[in-house]
Amino acid sequence: MNKKSIYLDYNATTPLRAEPLDAMRPYLSDVFGNASSMHVFGQQARKGLEDARQAVARCVNAQKPGEIIFTGCGTESDNMAIKSVARANKARGNHIITSSIEHHAVLATCEYMRSEGFQVTVLPVDSSGRVSPLEVKRNIQPSTILVSIMHANNEVGVIQPVAEIGKIIAGENDSRAAAGRGQVLFHTDAVQTAGKIPIDVQAMGVDLLSLSAHKFYGPKGVGALYIKRGTVIEPLLHGGHHEANLRAGTENVAGIVGMAAALELAVAEQQAEQARLLALRQKLENGIMSSIPSVYVNGHSLERLAGTLSVSFEFIEGESLLLSLDLKGIAASTGSACASGTSEPSHVLSAMGVPPECAQGALRFSLGRGTTEKDIDYVLETLPPVVDRLRRMSPLWKQNPV
Ligand SMILES: *Cc1c(COP(=O)(O)O)cnc(C)c1O
Repeated sequence: MNKKSIYLDYNATTPLRAEPLDAMRPYLSDVFGNASSMHVFGQQARKGLEDARQAVARCVNAQKPGEIIFTGCGTESDNMAIKSVARANKARGNHIITSSIEHHAVLATCEYMRSEGFQVTVLPVDSSGRVSPLEVKRNIQPSTILVSIMHANNEVGVIQPVAEIGKIIAGENDSRAAAGRGQVLFHTDAVQTAGKIPIDVQAMGVDLLSLSAHKFYGPKGVGALYIKRGTVIEPLLHGGHHEANLRAGTENVAGIVGMAAALELAVAEQQAEQARLLALRQKLENGIMSSIPSVYVNGHSLERLAGTLSVSFEFIEGESLLLSLDLKGIAASTGSACASGTSEPSHVLSAMGVPPECAQGALRFSLGRGTTEKDIDYVLETLPPVVDRLRRMSPLWKQNPV
């Protein structure tokens, strides 16, 4: 690895911070007990686990620590939210609503549920990448049991009107309750927002919310799912009685402790850090727009995560640009890490109506704690000649001189 490379792919993953690593250390050595064991070794591990549960519950404003279940990753949390709720509530309905810009962990899971007899409505988004709360309302049917709409998108950073959707679902549930009918449950994938913008499960009106530690400077391989008290859900994994019988498997106590420490820190520093990142992103965005012709910013101009910038460079392939920048010591992304390796344009940009030739030329810069003004200056100095060189090689560019 090139030691001097500038990392601008924080939406894919983040480095583990020193503080969570320090918090984890005892649980990787001396405090090795199984949190389910009754003896003192188990009790010590149990204490770390339950303190972490309380901390995560506080960070999302859950009413009770028991509403937090620890999982193996954000993908598992999303799978559990959808499969476990759908299966447990199938007797009263088989309809699920989601959106076309969800992470694959949600979209592919919803698609899979069709094979178990569920009907899935995939809502469109507008050109700014937002789901309309009214579209959610219009698509709720008597058979609807679950709505899953993400809090903010990983590719373009667009923040969804989750609290407004929560209000619409609450209204529907009031009339259902009056008629003695079961509720519509609401899940949001908050993997990209935790530690970046405030998360309040009560104000958002969600029943389920997914988190992943490695997106906020915690360790990889640990996630959490908020499940509101009283939600009817069945386990995804069967086995022991861990996690209130909802997730069998000996808890990854060290990872969980690291997750809680990382989240508390990110939330405490959230406001100041996001203001810093917003200034850096605006500098990057303005610099690109003013120095390179035929470029477009993807996603809502205001309702967007501070550190995310998706730009389409017309007449070139995002993948070629990514590789050229990598050689110059700049690590960006063509969209989501999970979609790379395929030549298909991003499903998110397609859903936003970005024409295929622009979607192919998209590059995502995602900024984070390590990003400095010097890094942005280097990108702004490096990018224009690289784009120019690639365009000169492109037959499309020659046909479309600016
Ligand atoms: C990264 C990500 C996930 C998956 O989380 P993992 O912990 O990597 O499985 C899910 N949703 C969104 C929005 C993400 O950005």
